Order: sequence, then structure tokens, then C-alpha cells
Amino acid sequence: MKLKSIKLLAISLFAVLLAACEEPADSNSQSAAAVQPQQTIHWKMVTTWPKNFPGLGAGANRYAELVNEMSGGRLEVKVYGAKELVGALETFDAVSRGTAELGHGGAYYWKGKAAAAQFFSAVPFGMTAQEMNGWLYHGGGLELWQEVYEPFGLVPLAVGNSGTQMGGWFNKEINAIADLEGLKMRLPGLGGEVLRRAGGVPVLLPGGEIFPSLQTGAIDATEWVGPYNDLAFGLHKAAKYYYYPGWHEPGTTMELIVNKEALQSLPADLQAIVKYAARVANLEMLADFTARNNQALKTLVEEHGVELRKFPDEVLLKLRELSEQVIAEEVAKDPLSAKVYESFKAFNDQVVEYHRISEQAYLNARTHAKTME
Ligand code: CA
Repeated sequence: MKLKSIKLLAISLFAVLLAACEEPADSNSQSAAAVQPQQTIHWKMVTTWPKNFPGLGAGANRYAELVNEMSGGRLEVKVYGAKELVGALETFDAVSRGTAELGHGGAYYWKGKAAAAQFFSAVPFGMTAQEMNGWLYHGGGLELWQEVYEPFGLVPLAVGNSGTQMGGWFNKEINAIADLEGLKMRLPGLGGEVLRRAGGVPVLLPGGEIFPSLQTGAIDATEWVGPYNDLAFGLHKAAKYYYYPGWHEPGTTMELIVNKEALQSLPADLQAIVKYAARVANLEMLADFTARNNQALKTLVEEHGVELRKFPDEVLLKLRELSEQVIAEEVAKDPLSAKVYESFKAFNDQVVEYHRISEQAYLNARTHAKTME
């Protein structure tokens, strides 16, 4: 054997020995990790919905399930209905101060704390579900939302969309804008301000308080979501006329708020799960509403005798005009709202332009083809 080969053999043997020495140490640490019990992190999620409520509440439950499953049980989320841990409209503060790590609700509930928040749930005559998701994920919307919630120690994520909502429940017909005068109606966010401008009285009530308020006459009218969720609350037992379309909520985004400190204390993979489970739950809620709304509407009309009505065009035109005034005012009094709306509007305008010749043209064509059959 040549000297060179002997040297090589020696080096190889040394390497094998070295690897053999290292191996036990490695497998020791691996088996130590394997026998160590998995640490489970327990998080609480407070919600603005009644416990196990369909649609909106199902979105919160589904998110918790997804996180539990995706993390292999390392992060366990327990969902609390409104009033179980804190009141419906106390969830924002509860998550901000860390009483719970997560909260599920609607951003427009917090306009008194951060005026710009309302642009992330629904803008009257604004974007649909599909368009909102485009803005949030690929148009800078989510980053702006995070900027708005930054002072509260919260990270917002989109978890659910109702699609276009219904216009609401009334005990009288709405034939002209004057019919809204003096009307005390549960209507949150910017839509509520538009009602105020039309002479009405907007009231902010969490879901669970709507039915009793309408039944006792504490409010004259209400909007909630759409057939699937409105049927669940039995709103048809307290009002006769069911109006469409939901001009005030064309594609409402539901929010998940995460306590920022709690989020940052998680390992990177669990932080990713918190974030991406939100995307899955966001999509699933819209699909849930799409799958169930029409069946619920049939039940309301055919079994409960609900009178379905479309808002007259002149009422919608006036509401649109008032919406533009209200938005201009909101934007003028708060620089952060101005910054958010600038982004919203720029995205809205370009997406509307394309959807005019795609989704809208197609929906029109489908409807026309159907009526010609
Ligand atoms: Ca609503």
C-alpha cells in the first residue's frame, strides 16, 4: 500500500470514529426530546358572538380547531362566547390587556377607540368579499390594519367574511329616504353614520341583544348579517319586512385580534400557524355563508312568511350620496383614517374597473340568459 493510500485510510477511519463518537450524543438528545412531554400552550379566545353561534361563531370555532390540529396540540385555543369571560363589546380591551390572547369580532365595533378600524370591516358601497381579500392580502390592507392596532398591542388578522349582507329587518316599508327619519336601527360602523345623516338613529348592539331589543321595541329596525345568521336569531319573529341589498356591508370582513406580546412569545412555527390558520378560516366562513344563505332565505319566505323587499333605487342612490359625505367627513377628522381610506379607495377603484367587465358582466349575462329561457 502506498503511503498516500494509508494516509487516506487513516483519515477515513478517523472520520468514522469521530462520527461514531458523535452519534450516541445525538441520539441521546433526540431520545431525550422524544420522552420529554410536549409542552401545551393554552390560549383563550373571547368572541363577540353567542357561544357556538352558526356562521360568524362557527368561524371562531373553526379557527380554534385548525390551530389545535395544525400545531399537533402544542397550541390549544379555547373559545368563549360573549359574556362567558367578558362582554361582547369588551373583547378588544380584554385582548389588548392580555386577559385573553385572541378575540373574534368585527373591526367596526371599535370605531370609538380607533376610527380607522371601521374601514377594515365594511365600507358602504365599498368592496365585496373577494375584493376585500385582494386588498388585505395583496393591496397593503393588512399592513395598514396592523399599523392601526399597533398602539393597542394587538395584531389583527382577517378571519371570515359574510359576503354581501342583507339590508335589514323593518316593521314598515321603506319607499323613500324620508321613511328612515327617526328610525332607531341597530346598524354599526360607517353605515350607522349614514343612517344618522338620513335622519335615523343608529344603535350599536352586539348580536345577542338584537332580538330582545327589536321585540320590546327598544329599536325599530335592525340589520344583522344575512338569511343564515338572521334565521338563527329568529329576527323574523320581530319584524315583517326583509330588505336587500346590504348597501352598508357589501362584503364584511370579520377580525381576529391577537395579543402581540403573546404572539411574539411563541416559537416561529406556532406564530406561522396562528397567521395561516386565519387564512383558512377566512375562506371557510365565506364558503359556509355561500352554502347556506339561500336555503335559509327559502325557509324565511316560504315557512315564516317573511316579506322580501328591495330598497327602491332612489333610496339606494341617496344612501350612496350620503355615504360619500360621511366617508369624506371621517377621513377629514382623522389622519390615520385618511391614510387607510386612500389605500382602500385606490384599490377599490382599480378592482371595480376590472370587475365591471369580469364578475359584474358575467353575473349580468347569467341573469339575462336565465330570464330569456
Ligand atoms: Ca351586519
